[in-house]
Amino acid sequence: MIPMFDELDIETASGCTRACPTCLRTTYPDRTKTEARFRSPAVLLPPHVVTRVIDDAIEMGFQGILTLQLYNEPALDAVRIAKFANYAKKRGRFEKVHVFSNGDRLDASIAAGLDGALDEIVVALYAPGPGGRPRIEGRAEREAEIRSWFHKTRVVFTGGAHETTHYSPISDLASRVARNRRAPCIFDAQKRMVIDHTGEMLLCGEDIGAEFDLGNVCDTPLRELWYSKKHQEIVTTLSRAGGRERYECCRICPKDGARKDDKRRPRASASIPSTLPPWLYVVHDLERVPAGATVQAAQRG
Ligand code: SF4
Ligand code: SF4
Repeated sequence: MIPMFDELDIETASGCTRACPTCLRTTYPDRTKTEARFRSPAVLLPPHVVTRVIDDAIEMGFQGILTLQLYNEPALDAVRIAKFANYAKKRGRFEKVHVFSNGDRLDASIAAGLDGALDEIVVALYAPGPGGRPRIEGRAEREAEIRSWFHKTRVVFTGGAHETTHYSPISDLASRVARNRRAPCIFDAQKRMVIDHTGEMLLCGEDIGAEFDLGNVCDTPLRELWYSKKHQEIVTTLSRAGGRERYECCRICPKDGARKDDKRRPRASASIPSTLPPWLYVVHDLERVPAGATVQAAQRG
């Protein structure tokens, strides 16, 4: 039997404020699988599903990192995320409960709701900022402003570096794919349980299209999904050198498959060609999910 995951990612909603040129939301070739992510209002993973996933994980003995976000902007779903974080911490013990935010929509009011509910918020502050304004110049001031809103939650800034993902236009994509092609995937597939906003289980953070057809938490308990024969076979195959060759998604993967906090990992790259069309940087005017919003049923892929 494969070991338990030590990171659980739950994508509570579909929306983001941006269309970063590096992001799988933007670059994934099969638009039928991603176009719902650009609709407004956003699709929300129903609260009873989120809390059941948390309960399932606790029942399985999970005490690792809980991330309440995936390919979406958590500030758009901040009220619910604060509730889920509080629920999780009341029910179980976790290494940390956190989110990654681009920082566009963070304000004093949103921060007040998240402060203390989350253990950590990781903020990118990509350039350019809202309305196309460059963010580089005002970065230090914006960081200080965001930091001033949080008193209990740790705030970490990434500096806005873009990660190399499957189809991103970052110049080192091909060399990363070549370098990692024979390597086992020792973290992403082995240690992360990833649930998207429709409840679908993804193999890893690169699997935005749910290409492995691993099942859905809306009708299957977390334990059954993680320990399914199919998932165990895939994970076991990927734990070996050359295992990526079995799966198209893994064969063309730039990820080294190591832990995010492994100091030996290559640093995230920011070398994006300057010839990219400007619309790729558009900051969307998506609505924040109002408190008490009617939950739109998650769509099955
Ligand atoms: S802000 Fe994050 S989730 Fe949104 S498009 Fe950019 S990389 Fe993707
Ligand atoms: S090799 Fe890449 S696509 Fe395959 S499981 Fe690992 S991170 Fe995901």
